[in-house]
Order: sequence, then C-alpha cells, then structure tokens
Amino acid sequence: MGIPLSRPDITEAEIKEVRSVLLSGRLSLGPYLERFEKAVADYVSAQHAVAVSSGTAGLHLALLASGIQPGDHIITTPFSFIASANVILYVGARPVFVDVEPDTGNISPQAIERKISKEYIKRGNRWVCRMDGMPLSALIPVHVFGHPCRMDEINEIAHERNLIVIEDACEAMGSLYINRMGERIHTGTMGKIGVFAFYPNKQMTTGEGGIVVSGDEKLTQTIRSLSNQGRDDMGTWLWHPRLGYNYRMDEMSAALGLVQIKRMEEMGAKRRAVMRSYNEHLAVLEGIETPPEHPYAEANPFVYVVKVKQGDRDDLMRYLASRGIETRPYFTPIHLQPVYGERFGFKRGMFPVAEELGERCLALPFHNNLKEEEIAFVAESIKIWLERRIKKNGKRDKKIKGAAEAKPG
Ligand SMILES: *Cc1c(COP(=O)(O)O)cnc(C)c1O
Repeated sequence: MGIPLSRPDITEAEIKEVRSVLLSGRLSLGPYLERFEKAVADYVSAQHAVAVSSGTAGLHLALLASGIQPGDHIITTPFSFIASANVILYVGARPVFVDVEPDTGNISPQAIERKISKEYIKRGNRWVCRMDGMPLSALIPVHVFGHPCRMDEINEIAHERNLIVIEDACEAMGSLYINRMGERIHTGTMGKIGVFAFYPNKQMTTGEGGIVVSGDEKLTQTIRSLSNQGRDDMGTWLWHPRLGYNYRMDEMSAALGLVQIKRMEEMGAKRRAVMRSYNEHLAVLEGIETPPEHPYAEANPFVYVVKVKQGDRDDLMRYLASRGIETRPYFTPIHLQPVYGERFGFKRGMFPVAEELGERCLALPFHNNLKEEEIAFVAESIKIWLERRIKKNGKRDKKIKGAAEAKPG
C-alpha cells in the first residue's frame, strides 16, 4: 500500500478544456487567460488579477511594482517555503525575519512590533533602521499551510509604520479570515497585493502557475506589463517601455485553472472532510498535535501538518516510509538555509519558535481524494509507532533508573 503525499484532482472536465486549447492552435495570450483572471478575481472578490507563470514570479512582480528599492528592509517570516524570502533577494532588498506563533506557525504580530520598536526609528513619514539607515518598506505575511495570519493586527502595524503589505497567499487559496467586524474575507485580498500559487500540490492547480490580485488598478497594469516583457496596453508587440520579464501564463494552464477555480467549492469541501477525518483519528493519540483552529480562521488547508515531540519526528517519518506512507518535514526555516546563512550571518537560535516547528512539523498524505481507509491506515501506523516509542522510552528510563540505583552511595 503506497500513499503519496499529494495528488492533483483532475477530472474529464479539465482534460476536455485543455484539449480544446490544443485544438484551437492559440496556446498563449488567448481567451482563456482573460477568463481565468476574471474567474479568480470574482472568486476571491478582488478587483484585478494578473495570471503569471508561478507563485514565485507573482511575488517577484509584486515587489517590483510596489517600488521596493535595493537595500530596503522587508519584514517577513523565516517559517515558510523559501520563495517568499527569495523574491526579497531578487530585488536587492534585505529580509528582516521575525519569529512566529507556536501553534499556526504564522508570523507573530507581537514579534513584528517588538522588532520595529527596537531596531527602527521614525524619519519623516518612514521608519528607518538604526544600524544602516535604510527604510523599512514592506511586510510579507505568509498564510502558512493555508491558515490565515492575524491580518487585523498586521494591517494595523503596517498602517502605523507606513508599510506596504504583500500577502503571500500561495498556500491559502480559498481560506477565509474573519476580521474584527465579523466579515469573512479571502486571504490574499487584505493587503495592497496578494499572490496565489497553482503548483500541483496546492489547493488548485494550473501545472505551474500563479496569480497576483490587487484593488489597485495602476499597480495591476504595471504587473501585467512586467509579466509581458515590459509591453504596455497601448504599444505594439515590439515596443517595451520598461524592463520586463516573461512571466506569462499559457493558455493550457489557464484552461486547466478555469475548470479548477469553478470546482473550488467542491474541492474545498473534500479537503476539509479529509482534514476532519484526520483530526478525529488523531485526536485520541497522545503525543501527536493536530492543526490549530481559531475563531478568526476558516482555513482551506494546503497540507495536513501534525506536530510531533521534539527529537521524534524523523523517526516517525522513517517508520511511516517503511509502511509506504509518504510524508515531508515542513519547513527547514529559511534563516538556516545555506544562502541566507552565508549572506546575512543568520544562525541557529535566532528564531527559536520557527526552529522548533521546523523540527516538529510533519506533513501527512493529504489530497482531495484521499480515501477513508488510507486515512485510517496512516492513523493506525502512527498509533503503532507511538506505542513502540513508549515501550522503548520506558525501557530506557528503567535502564537509567537502574544505573542510578547501582551507583554506590
Ligand atoms: C508554493 C509557494 C510559493 C510559490 O510557489 P511556486 O512554485 O513558485 O508557484 C510561494 N510561497 C509559498 C509560501 C509557497 O508555499
């Protein structure tokens, strides 16, 4: 019995739509791109959307279009997929990490506040670093594993300190945040710009792909132009008013995405049912922490992540692998990745909560069509592992106790 970590949910409808693109002969910049952008914007209630070739490309363009300058400081989380920080390096800015909340793994508003109060001072209408005098210009919260960040608090800080908020919602398509007013708002639509990703393991897929959403029309036009070699709406094919990139989404991807976005409701219901079933199976197991639930969050989970006792995670992973169950440790914190250590001198111990999560979090097999018997098998396997673990630790405790007693005096 092999159970993969994830699997895209593709039906005949997707196949039919992609096939019709192939038969049409128009493989890029066609009608599907526009329809897909409109459908996503409608779904998340955003005014504008620009589809791009990946979530990473979308984040890169979001930073460029926001006017981030080389040397600018950008606050973000070390507990994320590396792309959310890499894009800061792409534009020559400096990632300023702050620690995360122990339950959700999301950036902690208190930690942001502490960091700014300690290391930045007000100069004019901006906040600059006490050390190098460079401006703090943006904040990139990441809705980790699909669980919304505390956006009321984050937006408040951003407003007070004049920071642009770029939401990395690449793991949070279909997740809702319930704000102080009780409104249910899609992640990705609470900052200046939001970015979603459609890699095959995400809540919906276009193969490779992503989309940038915003309420700012001018910003969106800039992003569209940047994604298309710097062309503008007015110009001709070989006229490039600015330095751009080729970050376009092709028609096959857009057609695939168009069917997937229409299925979000159905797919989200399936995902949440799988999550509930896991929760029920695992809640009875002592020593395994299931994902957090908060009244401010209605998550459409990206992955199903449990927390294991520190020091035990890799052993559990090996045991599950021996039973054909694929899992993945999420995440190695970004500040501990080689590039970041070398460039910025980040070291272990700087962000203890992120580091602890990095050692305790394990993603279990999770996709829309995971069967009840597969979930039960995973849960049963974890139970067996826990029982063996307790036995083994009991023996070790006895040995230690025995050794202590054997000591003279
Ligand atoms: C998936 C993901 C991205 C973007 O991924 P792409 O593979 O470039 O589409 C960015 N940030 C986070 C947190 C992600 O999980």
